[in-house]
Amino acid sequence: VERRIAALEGAEDAVVTASGMSAMAMRAPRAASKPATTSIASPMTCTAAPASSWSTNCRAWGSAPTYRGSLLATGGADRLTAAVRGSSSRRLPSNPLLRVLGPPRPIARAARRIGAVVVVDSTFATPINLRPLEHGAHLVVHSATKYLGGHSDVTAGAVVGGGTLLASVRDRTRIFGPSLDPHAAWLVERGIKTLAVRMERHERNGHAVAEWCEAHPAVRQVYYPGLPSHPDHALAGRLLGGYGGMLGVELRGGGEAATRVVRRLRLARVASSLGGVDTLVSEPRHTSHMAMTAQQREQAGIRDGFLRFSLGIEDAEDIIADLRQALDEEPDDGE
Ligand SMILES: *Cc1c(COP(=O)(O)O)cnc(C)c1O
Repeated sequence: VERRIAALEGAEDAVVTASGMSAMAMRAPRAASKPATTSIASPMTCTAAPASSWSTNCRAWGSAPTYRGSLLATGGADRLTAAVRGSSSRRLPSNPLLRVLGPPRPIARAARRIGAVVVVDSTFATPINLRPLEHGAHLVVHSATKYLGGHSDVTAGAVVGGGTLLASVRDRTRIFGPSLDPHAAWLVERGIKTLAVRMERHERNGHAVAEWCEAHPAVRQVYYPGLPSHPDHALAGRLLGGYGGMLGVELRGGGEAATRVVRRLRLARVASSLGGVDTLVSEPRHTSHMAMTAQQREQAGIRDGFLRFSLGIEDAEDIIADLRQALDEEPDDGE
């Protein structure tokens, strides 16, 4: 399974781990880096967990990390460099707004210039839509729990790359123990065999459902990089092989509407995971972005009333029919 994942990413090698979180925790500091200068720049990711895993790691390396995660997010090389140096101030999470960071080459060059290791969490994109190593990343990490496995029946992770960086990840995995169990590895390998066809279907459903939602009166805004209304639509079109199956929908009726709609949904099931064959829905304020205050979420652009969908591979008409019965009951004057 490691060889398959490496081949998909165009990498020398890959290490699989027991979860996406353990994949992120296994990166060792570079021998050359001075611990005292450790700094992490990152978009605000799906949960607070990656951030606290990196911070804990940094402390273990003997430095108090300066984590810039909440500071940065989209924008080019200048923004990234500014974030690392502590002078950036934008708050734009990549998830669930599905922002696309780029263009990647200048970012990778700027990062390398300041001695940073460029790590891309490519869980949402998968190697079908993006191969970050081709754009200058040092390492790629995956939560294989999501699209690589694809059936919501396994927990797994992967670190992809090469050279001494990956060799040290392999060593640490052996020493600290988050090895992937053989049956889980088999499930991931089996999932990967259908990855390409699943991604095609996830995207087709993404487009269909995003367009349908955009036209519904109960919806204030739809976040899907495949829509021309998405701020990164052009960049995503150039960079990605496909726009994927993740979708953000903000309802006019706020948090109360979100709760009502989620209760009415039959086909879309409530769960905080993503990337499987079944359509899932979650409210970031109760799941991935629960750790933020309502005000912080508002500033970040994730207002109450936000629903995050992971579209499955069902018939798009069925997903839309489910949404229709759930949304049509919303009062027209939701504003
Ligand atoms: C789920 C997820 C993780 C964490 O992975 P686990 O397999 O649940 O440990 C990390 N990054 C992203 C983008 C994810 O979606």
